[in-house]
Amino acid sequence: MLSKSKYCAFSQCPKRLWLQAYRPELSEDNAALDARMEAGNEVGDLARGLFGEFTEVTARKEDGRLDLSRMIARTRQLVSENHPVICEAAFSYEGNYCAVDILRRENGGYAIYEVKSATHEAEIYGVDIAYQKYVLEHCGISVTSTYLVCINSDYVRGEELDIQQLFKIVDMSDWVTLESPLVPGKIKHAGEILARKEEPTLDIAERCEEPYHCPFWGYCARHLPEHSVFDLYRLPRKKKFDFYRRGIISYADALAVPSLSDKQLRQIQFRLSDCGTFIDKGAFGIF
Ligand code: SF4
Repeated sequence: MLSKSKYCAFSQCPKRLWLQAYRPELSEDNAALDARMEAGNEVGDLARGLFGEFTEVTARKEDGRLDLSRMIARTRQLVSENHPVICEAAFSYEGNYCAVDILRRENGGYAIYEVKSATHEAEIYGVDIAYQKYVLEHCGISVTSTYLVCINSDYVRGEELDIQQLFKIVDMSDWVTLESPLVPGKIKHAGEILARKEEPTLDIAERCEEPYHCPFWGYCARHLPEHSVFDLYRLPRKKKFDFYRRGIISYADALAVPSLSDKQLRQIQFRLSDCGTFIDKGAFGIF
């Protein structure tokens, strides 16, 4: 089954989706990922309070895993009864599954609210919501609008937490309109990627850091030397990949590049000549 997180992983890189499915043990940074998910769950729980009374659909099996069939059936029932606010509303269409953070009844249909612990909207959230809209509409739901619920960074907490001030709601319709025509083709391609047994052959590129640092970087970049242009101080990402594609990869390769800054050159020379740690004594007032 394709889910919204798998759809987003595919949107970043088809190989990422494949590795998640077939070689998840190669993923780095699981602790950081878990921490991010936990923070996201806390924010999600708080955001539910924005809309008054709600019904939550989450159901689990005895082993603790989500019981998707039960969630989908319960959502269907709640929608048929016109429930005004449903959290984790679950839908499935031809192998495409999604659970909407908050579904709110309006104008004869439902609005999707996607909750993120981010402070502003981003293209990837439009990608995520467009996938949900596609699934819901194929399940017969009229999606009237699409929103992102994210953190208002201007809010300063007083004694009591004011969740109306903590969150801001952003209309995502422009982002969703951009992504929506791409959804059917991407779902088809993602299905083809998941059906293949051999790993896709895709080299590292800018997408490895966009929109997120990919947790498979360590695996896909294992051919890089221990110190490479990717470690150079304040070298823009685009330049790193330009060098990489031109075969300028190791520190020794980079020495031939005339446009490096003094600090980058010093970083390379200290590493290549095994000079230990550089201390800028002037900056510390040590002469
Ligand atoms: S590290 Fe880059 S190439 Fe490898 S799976 Fe992630 S995005 Fe794709």
